[in-house]
Amino acid sequence: MKFFITGVIALGLLFSCNMKERADLILINGVVYTADSAFSKCTAFAVKDGKIVATGSDEQILSKYSAGEYVDAERNPVYPGFNDAHGHFFELGESLAMVDLRGTRSYNEIIERLRKAAEGGGKSYLAGDGWDQNDWPDKTMPDNTLLNEIFPDIPVVITRIDYHAVVANDAAINLLGIKPGDPSVPSDEAPVKDGRFTGLFLEKSSERLRLALPSPSLEEYNDMMKRAQSECLRYGVTSLSTAGETLEKIQMLRQFQNSKELKMRIDVWLSATKENTSTFSRPIKEGLINITSIKLYVDGALGSRGAWMIESYSDDSGNRGIKVADDAEYRWYLNWAYDHGFQAATHCIGDAANRYALREYAKILEGNNDRRWRIEHSQVIAPSDFEYFRKYNIIPSIQPTHATSDMIWAADRLGPRIKGAYAYKELLDCNGWLPSGTDFPIESVNPVYTFFAAVFRKNSEFYPQGGFEPINALSREEALRSMTIWAAKASFEDEYKGSLEAGRYADFVILNTDLMTAPEKEVYRAKVIKTFVAGKEVYSDNQSLLP
Ligand SMILES: [Zn+2]
Repeated sequence: MKFFITGVIALGLLFSCNMKERADLILINGVVYTADSAFSKCTAFAVKDGKIVATGSDEQILSKYSAGEYVDAERNPVYPGFNDAHGHFFELGESLAMVDLRGTRSYNEIIERLRKAAEGGGKSYLAGDGWDQNDWPDKTMPDNTLLNEIFPDIPVVITRIDYHAVVANDAAINLLGIKPGDPSVPSDEAPVKDGRFTGLFLEKSSERLRLALPSPSLEEYNDMMKRAQSECLRYGVTSLSTAGETLEKIQMLRQFQNSKELKMRIDVWLSATKENTSTFSRPIKEGLINITSIKLYVDGALGSRGAWMIESYSDDSGNRGIKVADDAEYRWYLNWAYDHGFQAATHCIGDAANRYALREYAKILEGNNDRRWRIEHSQVIAPSDFEYFRKYNIIPSIQPTHATSDMIWAADRLGPRIKGAYAYKELLDCNGWLPSGTDFPIESVNPVYTFFAAVFRKNSEFYPQGGFEPINALSREEALRSMTIWAAKASFEDEYKGSLEAGRYADFVILNTDLMTAPEKEVYRAKVIKTFVAGKEVYSDNQSLLP
């Protein structure tokens, strides 16, 4: 025994004197938030083969390791790479290639932006996204009168900010060859006036209109994936879950990885198609791609009154929204997921939708479990239903910027039910952890906004003072965990990413502002200096690290 100890000490001395352990990269001089279980900090870590091999003080790391590359963080904060727990990778790419209608203050402004995009001709169609009639003087849902007048020949489809509604002109409607009364178009999804479609389409019908436009070529898709990836990396997002992809898109993503263009980790949720369920018989992990979930829907969105409510909308008596799930089909997919070891991830906004999915989950999960079945958005929850999250370990997946984007009009739609809406702290308390995301491109990819909205419950104008329903604010530590280690846990990837600890991937981000200590206005303006995935730099703002 004595000999053994002496031998170990001698060996240790030999290493420290003569041959330091070789690492690929060493980061020093940082304020490193590891997001480990103790939420500990360090100043340095060493990376080898893409993974962290040790964390500690500068002295500890430099005395033990040497490396080919050194990163001096210059006292800036370092966090695990941000993980967006719910986004739409392809839609983000498409949206970055589309006419941007975010922030338009009127229908006329939309027309102006579309006109500009059409300038010079050569376009076979026009697609735009991001409008929100709640930002206009006239807040009623728009029709296509103006679109038909200005663009009589070219198909135009403009998608609402929530992706649950579009306005299409007649040229676009004609591509589908549908007429009012067509049995394939549910009447609550396509209003009709004077015997004609008004051009407004909701939910599944809005998707049909979008898909009716000529589809992008493989090269265009490739370009979209590149755009989406750059957008993520520049905001420090090194991992994301993309919510509901067809087999065709999954193959494109695999090809993107095979051609070495994929530089971030993508957790792909299957869209609910028989093609997907017959192709994937168990969860798989292929390099940077992880496939463990299936995306299901119960209802629509609150902004377009598609959210399915127990009682009618407070500002629209008699309207309880739209249930899009078919009972038999929904149960079939849940059972398929359970039998094949997949995670179910169901979109639920209204309290009726949440109650429905929670009860259906409960029937299958039966009690305590580690299936990590998720409810996406968990937006409006009836007071008695929080219990389901706790009892059946159902994971609420939240988008804090939805709260601050919706709060202005959500109170009108919901009335007193607003107390159980966007109730992130109450949801967190159910299981002690939850993932957060943005639902991009519905919201900006920027995870700093997620953090800001979760902690301060304010919008970009720092409104309202004191925050919206501040009782449901998360602490800074909780917010950071929700976008790193808890997001990784929500996709069964917490064994190898999400915190900066030995054995985990060296996915990390250096910011110019410390989210954990800075005043709220500085937090909101925090910027990424550098982003790394598996110890490789994938984004740099090309400025000195010095502030
Ligand atoms: Zn979504």
